[in-house]
Amino acid sequence: VYPVIEAYRRMPTSRPLKIYFLPFFAQGHLIPLVHLARLVASRGQHVTILTTPSNAQLLDKIIDEETAAGHHIRVHIFKFPSDRLGLPAGIENLFAVSDSLTASKIYMAAHLIKPAVDSFISESPPDVFIPDIMFTWSVASAKQFNLPRVVFNPISIFDVCMIEAIKAHPEVFESNSGPYEIPGLPHSLTIPIKPSPGFARVTEPLVEAEKDSLGVIANSFRELDAEYTEHYENHTGRKVWPIGPTSLMVQKTDTSSVSEEEHECLKWLSTKENGSVVYICFGSMCLLSDQQLYELALGLESSGHQFLWVVHRKKTNDDEGEGDEKWLPHGFEERIKKEDRGMLLKGWAPQPLILNHAAVGGFVTHCGWNATVEAISAGVPMITMPAFADQYYNEKLITQVHGFGVEVGAAEWSMSPFEPKTKVVSAERIEKAVKKLMDGGDEAERIKSKAKEMKEKAWNAVEKGGSSYNSLTELIDQLQKLVLAAPPCPAT
Ligand code: UDP
Repeated sequence: VYPVIEAYRRMPTSRPLKIYFLPFFAQGHLIPLVHLARLVASRGQHVTILTTPSNAQLLDKIIDEETAAGHHIRVHIFKFPSDRLGLPAGIENLFAVSDSLTASKIYMAAHLIKPAVDSFISESPPDVFIPDIMFTWSVASAKQFNLPRVVFNPISIFDVCMIEAIKAHPEVFESNSGPYEIPGLPHSLTIPIKPSPGFARVTEPLVEAEKDSLGVIANSFRELDAEYTEHYENHTGRKVWPIGPTSLMVQKTDTSSVSEEEHECLKWLSTKENGSVVYICFGSMCLLSDQQLYELALGLESSGHQFLWVVHRKKTNDDEGEGDEKWLPHGFEERIKKEDRGMLLKGWAPQPLILNHAAVGGFVTHCGWNATVEAISAGVPMITMPAFADQYYNEKLITQVHGFGVEVGAAEWSMSPFEPKTKVVSAERIEKAVKKLMDGGDEAERIKSKAKEMKEKAWNAVEKGGSSYNSLTELIDQLQKLVLAAPPCPAT
């Protein structure tokens, strides 16, 4: 016994912790968790990101930059179960997917990787494990290896509160037509369409998997959703660390020089007046129907405003031999080119750079949580068109709680970005919302100034001494205390 106590006394009161991060296979999950891993490494901790070959390729440049900055961060690669799932090699992220069946295989892969992750943990155990919320099996692994576990939740705590309130009050949805008022939340909030009961069922295991954790990390900042964070903490008894916007925090802590060639769309934006362009993007996964794309094009054109539109579209059999433009109104691309009124970007857009460009005055968004906090960081007011899952709730935070957006809304509730929608949001609704923000006037000015105010709060939150900066310090301090205070296991 005595040598053990002696060894415990001689243990350092502080040393870098060995922390494993496990991001889920989708851009909206991977991007913010990798940001978080970088932030933790920038505070002197030893970080390993566990991922699969194709996803690891997305990290090459980041790892080089972090290593050059002297941060201790590496990637551990394990095999993606492509063979077992019958997936083509290299399809390892929902970004590369355009149908429900393939998407379901990616979700299945999230379960099949457990043995590979467990085997790495058992060979080389970390001090702390930070998996994405999607890896519900991490509860069992953390128990098996006696690991402190903090869960990363890429959706907002506001959404989690909405989901729980909706689940607790099924009577609200007895009527067949909305709007439906959601009780039991810090604000009186209404949603226009009925959420699918399946959504609550899908989120159930995720919420369950938070239970045995030390708490939850959210890509947010106190000033954005403090009442909901408190509401969540009071109702669940679990701690939340709002650490974000992660993209803004990384931008500020990134010591390496960013010397990327300027993207064509940024050059185009630089020819435009400040605040004159509407940016449109529906995230990394959402594929709008051809009918919806058509309405969007009509709405944008008839608004009379300039636009930069990112289109991720699934090709159909109808496209064969006809070119890509069948889904656009006749002559659309030629007209916008001739008048230099718009740009279509059919590929991956440098979204944070676009949102931070002075020419961008509004953002037509699907209200993905990352898009939301990125727009807030840039002070760009939003025009909200939720497309699936939690996005219907984010819209309410943007428009009803804070008022830094104009609501377009949705035509129907959808659970997944790959689920075909039968109803469309009309061109008139889109045109009206774009004009409401971009035409100017008192209300537009009010919305813009609210977006600027929240931007200021976000920037203050990530500064030294700001709420997110302190939240990260607090998380690391707590983990340090927990890990280093644990007496060493007596020798058997
Ligand atoms: N994104 C991007 N370029 C694109 C599409 C998406 O950089 O062309 C990024 C975007 O900035 C955000 C993430 O991908 O960080 C998407 O996450 P979000 O939560 O907004 O939506 P999701 O893709 O999960 O629906």
